[in-house]
Amino acid sequence: MADHVALADEFFPEALRFRSPAPLVDIGANLTHASFAGDLDAVLHRARQANVTTLIVTGTDLAHARQAVTLAQRHPGLYATAGVHPHDASQWDAGLAAAMRELHQQSEVVAIGECGLDFNRNFSTPAEQERAFEAQLGLAAESGKPLFLHERDAGRRMREILHAWRDDITAAVVHCFTADRDTLYGYLDLDLHIGLTGWICDERRGHHLRELVSNIPLARLMVETDCPYLLPRNLPAKLKGRRHEPALLPWIVREIAHWRGIDEAELARATSDTAQRFFQVPVTDKKRCAGHTRQES
Ligand SMILES: [Zn+2]
Repeated sequence: MADHVALADEFFPEALRFRSPAPLVDIGANLTHASFAGDLDAVLHRARQANVTTLIVTGTDLAHARQAVTLAQRHPGLYATAGVHPHDASQWDAGLAAAMRELHQQSEVVAIGECGLDFNRNFSTPAEQERAFEAQLGLAAESGKPLFLHERDAGRRMREILHAWRDDITAAVVHCFTADRDTLYGYLDLDLHIGLTGWICDERRGHHLRELVSNIPLARLMVETDCPYLLPRNLPAKLKGRRHEPALLPWIVREIAHWRGIDEAELARATSDTAQRFFQVPVTDKKRCAGHTRQES
């Protein structure tokens, strides 16, 4: 595999080697995606070089959730989520529920999901989505593990359903948040966590998020690539079109810190602390073990 690493490094230009000043947790990495099958070791190597030390591998259906668990068993610093994405909600039945319940008991699985509602594309009908989502809320309540949520164009219905379930579930993060201020405040009122991606790097689609980032308390904010999707649009020109990967998370953190008006290192530490508490995973930080102190936010 050493050849792989050398080869991949050749194609990872100097301009993209950002190292985070503090260890980062990428809470949404779709590393079971076929595009990572050929060079996963190199991808993980670059992530570590960038100080992205902990990766939550997203499981969006039974097959991918099982693959995510296998990756977590093989690689230190990797953990898995297990759920059924709203696009695949039509597949939900008793057999799938039983298989998911079994997966959720594994120690590598640190969250239930990706699950939720997507009324933008409706690959499954809204009724099928709500049925699968409520069933997975039930599984989350049973396991006591937090939820990893997907929501697109369904903010109002999502809040209604979560309101009804809020006392039964422990915690939930709305991953890849891209909605408006009202929706954000609704989620924060429900004491939910918010995951931000490189969407904010997009001058056209992410502009509204730039004014909102300051309204998310640091104890509720986490960061993610959602790779291989959502490559930041403001990367240097020659990098456009390449596959997104966890090593680019520091670039996104830098952008969020800029719009929030705080130091990149402070944001990195805060989001990693939040992720550590939320997913109950260790985050390697040798400096901190040596007595590094920081202010609580
Ligand atoms: Zn999603």
